[in-house]
Amino acid sequence: MQNYDLIVVGAGILGLATAYQARKAGAKVVVLDKGATAYEASSRATGYLSLRGETPEESPLAQMAEKLWDGLDEELGYPTEWTQRGRIWAAVNERELAELKELYQSFEKTDIAFEFVDGQALRKMIPSLTDSCLGGIHTPRSGHANPQRTSQAFAWAFTDLGGEIREYTPVLEVLATGGRVKGVKTPYGEIHAPRVALCAAAHNTLLLAPFGILFPLAPVRLEALVTTPMPPLFDQCFIGNGLSVRQTKRGNLHMNGGPYEWIDLEIDKESPKPTTPIVRNILRRAIETIPLLKGAQFLRSWAGIVDMAPDQMTTIHLFDNPEGLLTVAASGHGFGMAPAVGVAMADLALKGATSLPIEHLSLNRFRHITSDWREKRRWHAGQYNT
Ligand SMILES: Cc1cc2nc3c(=O)[nH]c(=O)nc-3n(C[C@H](O)[C@H](O)[C@H](O)COP(=O)(O)OP(=O)(O)OC[C@H]3O[C@@H](n4cnc5c(N)ncnc54)[C@H](O)[C@@H]3O)c2cc1C
Repeated sequence: MQNYDLIVVGAGILGLATAYQARKAGAKVVVLDKGATAYEASSRATGYLSLRGETPEESPLAQMAEKLWDGLDEELGYPTEWTQRGRIWAAVNERELAELKELYQSFEKTDIAFEFVDGQALRKMIPSLTDSCLGGIHTPRSGHANPQRTSQAFAWAFTDLGGEIREYTPVLEVLATGGRVKGVKTPYGEIHAPRVALCAAAHNTLLLAPFGILFPLAPVRLEALVTTPMPPLFDQCFIGNGLSVRQTKRGNLHMNGGPYEWIDLEIDKESPKPTTPIVRNILRRAIETIPLLKGAQFLRSWAGIVDMAPDQMTTIHLFDNPEGLLTVAASGHGFGMAPAVGVAMADLALKGATSLPIEHLSLNRFRHITSDWREKRRWHAGQYNT
């Protein structure tokens, strides 16, 4: 048994950012992961920071993240490949155009410079874009980075400060007594601390269930792939035709796309991630969207699991009972949010409060949701999110 100020469960980017900030504030922190550091969603992400125009409640936190991204290489001392050249969300048919126009009404509720532009304006920004692009939402803000490098940068910066990461150490149970957390149980014994931060993505639901707490998260599998390096085509974050596509610093086109398959997880088993025929479909849509990809060589594909809350927003919550317990999950956009989430989580863990704008993101918004919510939405395993 060892004693720490804070145990962080999960060495994904949200756990690592939380651990880094708490260690920087002077706490003795250990991060436990059931597998390797950032082996799950955090290294499999496409790497966008979205400013969340579609969810104005999250937008203030995303803007905090944007500020922190600007200084992140210097802060952590390692490169993240952060590139801030804006985001384009394009419509390639009339149906998508109508949907985007409707969605744009929520974008207008934020104080970010979003504009609705026509297809010609978008092709000026991305000349290789298909002629069938009809228009879309553009912001000169937003950016992208390398998910593997960034996750590793947080891990190295944390251990440089004396933080400890224990890989292949699954947390089987959160321990509490007298209304307070006291630590966690692992196959190798108990580890004690007065604060436990659950940053275990969709596994948060399983770890909180014994307390009678419902953290409604549905695991969903996303497919991704990357081409060999290509000449410079664009440097914005591009979304369109059901795909997210960015060009890396080396020139690879890195993309992910739906539809996504809802799945089930178990606490002590590897998450299922086989790639599926969707990859072929992603390729077809990529070529439709950027026709010169027809001659591109595709290097590799993979899949990753993300955790989706019913409203597809980030959740950050500090519990009163058991005291000392807190949790986070980010509904598929945690990579971009991570720098700000880390600050908010470390504040909550060490000071019990934060000045960051997270008031709309607590679990309280789900207090009327019942445990069969996934079935009601048809978000259960084997279904697709079409
Ligand atoms: C293909 C794809 C593309 C994406 N693109 C983007 C994007 O462009 N922008 C963006 O912002 N986000 C994107 N995301 C989502 C983003 O990757 C996640 O929101 C983010 O990585 C979540 O970080 P996390 O630390 O919560 O989760 P994870 O990285 O999944 O880390 C959770 C960790 O908890 C560990 N764990 C679970 N249970 C236990 C346990 N019982 N004990 C110990 N450890 C445990 C896991 O092993 C894992 O390492 C994408 C995801 C995928 C899969």
